[in-house]
Amino acid sequence: MTATTPGLVCAHHHLYSALARGMPAPPQTPTTFQEILEQIWWRLDAALDLEMLEWSAKLGALEALEAGTTAIVDHHESPNAIEGSLDVVAAACAEVGVRVVCAYGVTDRHGPDGARRGIEENRRFLEAGGRGLVGVHAAFTCTDATLEAAAALAAERNVGVHIHVAEGIEDVEAPARLEGLTAPAWLLAHCVHLPTDHRLEGTVLHNPRSNLNNAVGYADPARFSKPVALGTDGIGANMIESFRLAYVMHRSVDVTATPETAWSWLEEGWSLVPEARGDEVTWSYDPMDPWHLAFTPGVRPLRVRVGGETVLDDGAPTRVDAAEVRAKAAEQAARLHARL
Ligand SMILES: [Zn+2]
Repeated sequence: MTATTPGLVCAHHHLYSALARGMPAPPQTPTTFQEILEQIWWRLDAALDLEMLEWSAKLGALEALEAGTTAIVDHHESPNAIEGSLDVVAAACAEVGVRVVCAYGVTDRHGPDGARRGIEENRRFLEAGGRGLVGVHAAFTCTDATLEAAAALAAERNVGVHIHVAEGIEDVEAPARLEGLTAPAWLLAHCVHLPTDHRLEGTVLHNPRSNLNNAVGYADPARFSKPVALGTDGIGANMIESFRLAYVMHRSVDVTATPETAWSWLEEGWSLVPEARGDEVTWSYDPMDPWHLAFTPGVRPLRVRVGGETVLDDGAPTRVDAAEVRAKAAEQAARLHARL
């Protein structure tokens, strides 16, 4: 029994984080979201070079394909390897056969020059015809001038801004800082601490596993009137698994919640990357409907076609050698972990 669906979309990913698994523990155990950022992610991203990024992105793209995800909305940061980094992410995904929407996460954490170089990487990539958005890390790590520059570039290029919003309580000022800058094409990741009656424009990107892992709270995205799409925030790209978790988290605060709501968040991904709707995933299970999938573990893709080309057959990628990608990624992970 098999069933076919369109390609799934991961609406918020960090392909640069695929090599993080197994990294050495930080010197002190982080006790807040700010400390998790400082002691884990901001040490990891600073240690990345373009070769590590290439294999991190290939591994992430491979794992997406193996989960039936044909499109990734990525949010990238590598502060010591900014220039050209979006090309590396785009090329890695193209090699595996996965669609990607790139963005470089601009921040003032590395001073005004770091912010300027981040803006320029977004501009360079978009002007060269790359499929992308303008990335911003988050309001709490950016000056008003940087937020305005990112919004202006996005308006100029006719794309949205992909930004973390009120993920932790550290960023509760975000709605006030961003009001008047946002537009419907913006992607607002997390929104855990965003008031229900906020005045921001854009799609809310819900990442339940990441929010649980960082102990930042539950976003309860059903409360928002704006569209909601599902992401992973870098913890793989298995969107059926994300849907199942999103459903049960929703249910945990509302016993009347049904899987259809979380399924609608998964489907919202096709508004962000409409081409994925034309991709075809043949699954090991039938029927692929929300009430079945919410309670059925182990559903996996057998075949994936992207733009008419078979890129996964019998569960194996056709364009790359999965074992080789994993081996090269492990080598680069060892280099990265040694730097930490
Ligand atoms: Zn994120």
